[in-house]
Amino acid sequence: MELLNIKNLDLAGKKVFIRCDFNVPMDEFGNISDDRRIRSALSTINHCLDHGCAVILASHLGRPDGQVVAKYSLLPVARRIHHLLKREVVLAKDVVGEDAMQKASALKGGEVLILENLRYEEGETKNSKELSQKLAAMADFYINDAFGVSHRAHSSVEGITHFFDNNHKAAGFLLQKEIEFFSKLIEKPVRPFAAIVGGSKVSGKLEALINLLPRVDKILIGGGMAFTFLKQLGYDIGSSLVEDELLGDAQHIMNEARRLGVKLYLPVDVVAADKFAEDAAIKIIAAQEIPNGWMGLDIGPATVRLYKEVLSDVQTVLWNGPMGVYEMDKFARGSNEIARYVADSYATTIVGGGDTADLVQRIGVDDEMTFISTGGGATLELLEGKILPGVASLVVQED
Ligand code: AMP
Repeated sequence: MELLNIKNLDLAGKKVFIRCDFNVPMDEFGNISDDRRIRSALSTINHCLDHGCAVILASHLGRPDGQVVAKYSLLPVARRIHHLLKREVVLAKDVVGEDAMQKASALKGGEVLILENLRYEEGETKNSKELSQKLAAMADFYINDAFGVSHRAHSSVEGITHFFDNNHKAAGFLLQKEIEFFSKLIEKPVRPFAAIVGGSKVSGKLEALINLLPRVDKILIGGGMAFTFLKQLGYDIGSSLVEDELLGDAQHIMNEARRLGVKLYLPVDVVAADKFAEDAAIKIIAAQEIPNGWMGLDIGPATVRLYKEVLSDVQTVLWNGPMGVYEMDKFARGSNEIARYVADSYATTIVGGGDTADLVQRIGVDDEMTFISTGGGATLELLEGKILPGVASLVVQED
């Protein structure tokens, strides 16, 4: 799949609208705790500035649901961009209101304007045509560099692309890199290829799991989603997270794995807690025997050993979703141990999903991974073989 390339655009001195994904995590004081997504957008921004463009940046942050909510303002993001670019960055007071429109129209080559949170506008997530049109009217060119939201048909991601012809829109460097990487991974992975899938729920990853099966040699399941499988096997899972309505799907996945010869691994033991809290009492217990009132919140030490052994001969590892409630130190050990092991391996290691990227960064092994994707949901939809809505009209059509 070839995408319209930013390098082929005649951008010099023009006004460019860049849809970025600045949806960065913040700590309780409102400080940006991981600015990877901002840093990842710098190549595209600098490319435009190097060509004398007036640059309009737009992103969402959190879910303000169409309301102006101060804590979701892009002010901290604007400050961080200013710091990273070492040049003035003006933040508009609104998205398509008087202030943004006036500032966008007055913007000159070499200047950077950032619009307020796109999701302050109710129309953004509804793919409102009116909003797309207003955003499009601000600039001569449209660049999508927001891989993390490209699986969403939103005004600034999908709708807006229809207001530019193929000579006036393209994928930014980050989007290009992510799509290229995952396309290659799907087409020709070096084998054995293992997927580690965790996180809270089967429901969010059901289709991805089914679509991954024919592509991988091994699947290792962890996190809350493991318990739906374990329950289906007839195990006592106590009060662990479970999706009863998906027991049949879990069985289907296990059957398909067997049919395709894919090795599917489930936790053999867990760190069980008597409540969902940092100060819970805990015990290590076999996955078959979780007592009533106890919940599995991390994979146990035997599972860690097993998973390391299973991963020891693989050449490609794709990891999406933590092995436990890694946000609490007590239940982070399984994820951390797997992260260190994967980071130390000589395999091609791909981490997708905000949580997984966050956890490898927390323990400082992010640099050891081959590729950390800025997208979570987008990564999974790509792996499902879908063409993302935000990418569809940036694909070069073959004659
Ligand atoms: P997801 O967004 O589906 O990737 O899920 C990530 C979340 O899953 C993290 O916030 C983890 O705390 C949570 N999680 C992982 N393991 C468990 C578990 N055993 N029980 C409950 N939540 C979990």
